[in-house]
Amino acid sequence: MPVCKKCESDVSKVYDCEHTDDQEYCKECYTELHYYLTEKE
Ligand SMILES: [Zn+2]
Ligand SMILES: [Zn+2]
Repeated sequence: MPVCKKCESDVSKVYDCEHTDDQEYCKECYTELHYYLTEKE
């Protein structure tokens, strides 16, 4: 089972992109990260 690098939870699916520095994030952390990125303006 993959582990989210941010919250360290076991999750069935992880996500990554250039914003996560090639770390695997769970959907929740991944969504939250992009939420902050889009709020930055
Ligand atoms: Zn997470
Ligand atoms: Zn991204």
